[in-house]
Amino acid sequence: MALVVKKFGGSSVATTEKMKNIVNRVLAEKGEDDNIVIVVSAMGDTTDNLLELAAEIGSDPSRRELDMLLSTGEQISIALLAMAFQEKGCPSISLTGFQAGIRTNSVYSKAKIISIDPVRIERELKAGKLVVVAGFQGITTDQDITTLGRGGSDTTAVALAGALKADVCEIYTDVDGVYSADPRVVQTAKKMSEITYNEMLEMARLGAGVMQPRSVEMGKHYNVPIHVRSTFTTQPGTIIREVYTMEEREFIIRGVAHDNNVAKVAVLGVPDKPGIAYLLFSELAKANIDVDMIVQSIRNSDQNINDIVFTVSKTEAAKTRIIVEEIAKQLGCFGVDVDENVAKVSVVGAGMLGNPGIAANMFGALGEAGINIEVISTSEISISCLVRADIVKQAVSAIHQRFFPNE
Ligand code: ASP
Ligand code: MG
Repeated sequence: MALVVKKFGGSSVATTEKMKNIVNRVLAEKGEDDNIVIVVSAMGDTTDNLLELAAEIGSDPSRRELDMLLSTGEQISIALLAMAFQEKGCPSISLTGFQAGIRTNSVYSKAKIISIDPVRIERELKAGKLVVVAGFQGITTDQDITTLGRGGSDTTAVALAGALKADVCEIYTDVDGVYSADPRVVQTAKKMSEITYNEMLEMARLGAGVMQPRSVEMGKHYNVPIHVRSTFTTQPGTIIREVYTMEEREFIIRGVAHDNNVAKVAVLGVPDKPGIAYLLFSELAKANIDVDMIVQSIRNSDQNINDIVFTVSKTEAAKTRIIVEEIAKQLGCFGVDVDENVAKVSVVGAGMLGNPGIAANMFGALGEAGINIEVISTSEISISCLVRADIVKQAVSAIHQRFFPNE
């Protein structure tokens, strides 16, 4: 008897026909005593369409109301999918995030799950039902609806799998696993049979779209294996787990990721004295803006003046500009420049620890391709370069070719 959480993304439930296919597949593969919880996203482009509706009303809608609006997308999917199971004679019930016991903080539009109390789900499973849960949403202690950030249904699925102590969390998607680079960009990209949580986390954080980063964090936290696989084939995909079980451990570099959702913010002519960086970044933190790469460079050592350059996601560029311009004015800086025509390319692999030369190799590949590097940052298991947005695909190909030459 297995307990499995299966998540189907927006493209897998885009039409009622596709929902019927899911029902057929799930019922065909289900063992008699298996307990199944299904987490779904909103149908197709529903979330984007809802966002467009909100944009017709105003350019900066209340985040609370936005979450109220966006959460309706998933509510449509769960009801239809539960009906589709019932139609095939399978007892089934749909539950919203609230009903499923998913409690979050109140940071609307990117809320974090703080606890899960799955009593209702367990009760329904015990009663022999297949439970369909709305992804991407939760509830605050004030009973306000929140959403978990774009792609947040992955997080719902993995967190539920953890709370329910499921055997595995299967993420069904339109790709058949995790690749060494985006296969739409690099045709020779290879599918991995396994990847560790830490490497996947880094790949996701650096732009690999397959999984929402927070969902991988959840998997690591609960130590739930995550199986990323295709909705359209029965082939095994990629399993994300703590350690490798196979020969894949010999890879030094696991993959090349890229991210177009980046903006570069330069604060020019900042006084070089203690407390300034704190002032700047604590204001951004208060506004819940994630800062990524940070570089401080000396503009003029005689006058004690620096430039501070950092990156944020493009979606937060406008908000960042307002905050930073205000601080720059207070400090008497020369100016603020926000550049949205940048992208980030990264190599990821736990094996780079203890293998010198990875950075040189990456820079070499970019140099030979005539690509200029604007900002560099590193973590223990990754190296990232900021480049012009219009050549990021060339950058990915050049680096992938270097680390994964065609056999
Ligand atoms: N429907 C939400 C989105 O499009 C959540 C998800 O798909 O996971 O971002
Ligand atoms: Mg979606």
